[in-house]
Amino acid sequence: MSRSDRPAARHRRLSTCAAAVAIAALAPLCLAAGASDHGLDFAGMDPSVAPGDDFFRYANGRWLATTEIPADRSSWGVSGQLAELTLQRTAELIRAADAAAAPGTEARKIGDYYASYMDAAHIEQLGLTPLAPLLKDVEAIGDRAALARALGATLRADVDVLNNTNLYTENLFGLWVAQDLNDPTRYSPFLLQGGLGMPDRDYYLNPSEKMADIRTRYQAHIAAVLALAHITGGKEKAARIFELERRIAEVHTSRAESEEVLKGNNHWSAEEFPQRAPGLDWPAFFGAAGLGKQQEFVVWQPGAVSGISALTASVPLETWKDYLRFHLIESASGFLPKAFVAEHFAFHQRVLSGTPQQQPRWKRAVEETNAALGEAVGKLYVARYFPPEEKARAEEMVRNLVAAFAVRIDRLDWMAAATRAKAKAKLATLRVGVGYPDHWRDYSGLEVVRGDAFGNGRRAELFEYHHNLAKLSQSVDRGEWAMNPQLVNAVNLPAMNAINFPAAILQPPNFDPQRDPVMDYGAIGAVIGHEISHSFDDQGALFDSTGRLQNWWTKEDFAHFEAAGKRLIEQFDGYHPFPDIHVNGRQTLSENIADVAGLAVSLDAWRLTRHGRPPPSVGGYSGEQLFFLSFAQAWRQKFREPELRRRVVVDGHAPPEFRADTVRNLDAWYDPFKVVPGQRLYLAPPDRVQVW
Ligand SMILES: [Zn+2]
Repeated sequence: MSRSDRPAARHRRLSTCAAAVAIAALAPLCLAAGASDHGLDFAGMDPSVAPGDDFFRYANGRWLATTEIPADRSSWGVSGQLAELTLQRTAELIRAADAAAAPGTEARKIGDYYASYMDAAHIEQLGLTPLAPLLKDVEAIGDRAALARALGATLRADVDVLNNTNLYTENLFGLWVAQDLNDPTRYSPFLLQGGLGMPDRDYYLNPSEKMADIRTRYQAHIAAVLALAHITGGKEKAARIFELERRIAEVHTSRAESEEVLKGNNHWSAEEFPQRAPGLDWPAFFGAAGLGKQQEFVVWQPGAVSGISALTASVPLETWKDYLRFHLIESASGFLPKAFVAEHFAFHQRVLSGTPQQQPRWKRAVEETNAALGEAVGKLYVARYFPPEEKARAEEMVRNLVAAFAVRIDRLDWMAAATRAKAKAKLATLRVGVGYPDHWRDYSGLEVVRGDAFGNGRRAELFEYHHNLAKLSQSVDRGEWAMNPQLVNAVNLPAMNAINFPAAILQPPNFDPQRDPVMDYGAIGAVIGHEISHSFDDQGALFDSTGRLQNWWTKEDFAHFEAAGKRLIEQFDGYHPFPDIHVNGRQTLSENIADVAGLAVSLDAWRLTRHGRPPPSVGGYSGEQLFFLSFAQAWRQKFREPELRRRVVVDGHAPPEFRADTVRNLDAWYDPFKVVPGQRLYLAPPDRVQVW
C-alpha cells in the first residue's frame, strides 16, 4: 500500500512528460540566485558555455553549480519546486477539511484520512496488529489452490500501459482496465507481469558490479524486514525469496519490449489460461480477484504470465508463503511503526535512489490522501488555485497549438493524402481536458475511519480496484481523467484520443500571465505540443480517431516515419549520462519524437499569434532565443547518481538534459545561437530529425 514511495516511476508520461516538464526560475531557491520571479532565470545561465556545445549548460550552468538537491529528494528542478509548492498548498487545504465537517462528506473523509495517517503514536501502539488477520490467512495456505486464491486476492488496479505508463507492480500480477484496443467502445481487463520487489528485471540480472551490490543489499533488506516482524530464519528465507524473485525476473519481458503495443494486445479467453499458462490454478486466482465471470482478458506479456504461472507450481509452497508474508509487510510499511518505515526508506529510497533523508510525515500523508481521495482533494485545489481566467488562457493556448499542428499536417510533403485526411480527423476529435475533469469522481462508497490508517489505505485500494472492475460492465467514459488536478504533470490517453493537463502544471514558471507569452510557448507550449504529438507518434500512429488499434498510415508513410525514428534512436543512444551507460534510444523513442514535434509545433503556434508584430526582446534576448531558453530552463533538473541510473533503466523518458538538447533538431535554433559545424550539438541539416 505504500504508494507514495514506490521505487518505480509511477507516472510515466509525466515524470513523464511532466515530471519532466517544469521550467524556469520560480521558487525561493532560484530567487535567491537572482532570478526574477517572472520570466526567465538569466542569472542561472552560464554564458561561458557555447550554446552549440552544450545548450543545457548554457541555459542552466550556474543554476546547476549552485543548487543543492533537498535532502528528502532524489532529484530537483522546476517540476520538483512546483511539486513542493503544490504539496504545501494541498496540505493546508486538507488540514482545513477537518473533523468538524459532517460525517460522510468528502471534507470529513479527507480530514480523517490525513489525520489517521499523521497519528504516528497510535500507529506505533498498534504495531503489526492491523496485519495480523492477513498474515494468518497466509499461514493457513495449505495447497496450491489456496495459494492461487491468496495471489488472486492481491490483484489491484495498479498498472497502466498507455496513459500513465506505470508498468510496475509488486503484486504477482497487475490489472489495468481500459478501452479494448480492438473495440474501443468497451472496456477490457489487461493483465500485466509483476512480482518483483526491485524496480525492473535488470536489477536482478544485470552483471554489473553496481547491480550486484544492490542485490546484496536487497537480500539484507528482506532479512531485516522479516526480523522486524519477528519471523525466524530470516536469512535463509531472504535467500529463498530473493531467488524466487530472480526467477520471476528471468521470465519478465523487458521494459522496452513491454512498450510495443502490437506485442501486448493478446486476447485470451478465461478457458485458455490453463493451457497457455499452465501451473497456476487460474479459476481460483480469478475467482479470488473478483473476476470469476470475466470471459476475456488482454495478456500484455504472455511469456511472463506463462513463466510466472509455472513458478507457482514448481517452487515449494513454503517459499511462496514466505514471499507473500514479506510482500504483505513490505507493501504496508508506510502504515506501520517507524522501524518498518525506516527500513523501507533505507533500501527503496536511499539505496535505489540515493535520497539521504526521508520526507517528513506530512508530505507522505498528503500523497497518501491524494492517492485515496485524489479528485475530492483536487476539487478543493482548483477552487483555490486555478481561476477561470487561467483555464480560459490555457484553453486558448491549446487551440493555438492544435491549429498549428493542423497546418503542419497540411504541409507534410511525404505523407499520402489519405493518411493526411485521417490525421486531420484524429486531430479534430482529440479531446483536450484543461485543469480538471468536467465530472468529478464519486467517493460515497469509500469508508474512512478515523484512527485506522492501515484499514483506510487498504479500503482505498480496494475501492479503486472495484471502481475499475465495475467499468467492465459499463460504457466507455471519454471524460474520465488519468491524473489528479493537483499533480504537476500531463498525459496523453491514446485509446481515448484525449489529453489531460492538470491544474498544477499550469502555473508559473511553466505558465505565467505576468510575462511575455513567448516564454510560455517555450515552456508549457512545448509540453502541450508534446502531448498532442503523442497522438501521432510511433504509438499514436497505431490508434485511429476512435482509439481502435489500427494502423491508419500507408506502408510508405510508415516507412518514412520509421526511418526518422531510427535516426532519433541513434541520436539518443549516443548520449552517456555516465561513462558506463547510455540512454536507451528505443525505450525512449515515443517521448523523444513527442519532444521534437512538441517544440516545433509550439514555435509555429507562437509565431501564428504574432500576426506580423515584431518579436519581443527581454533582457537583450530575441523572441526566438527566449523561446528556446525557456524550453531548456523548463528541463533543468539535478539528480543523485543512483536515481539517474534507475531512471535510465526504468523510464520511458530520456534524462532531462538530453531532452533539452533536442533543440538541435530544429533549424530555427541554429541562427539565433550562432551554432556552427564542429560544435558538439551541431547536426548537418539532413541529420536533423523532423517527424512532423
Ligand atoms: Zn510524453
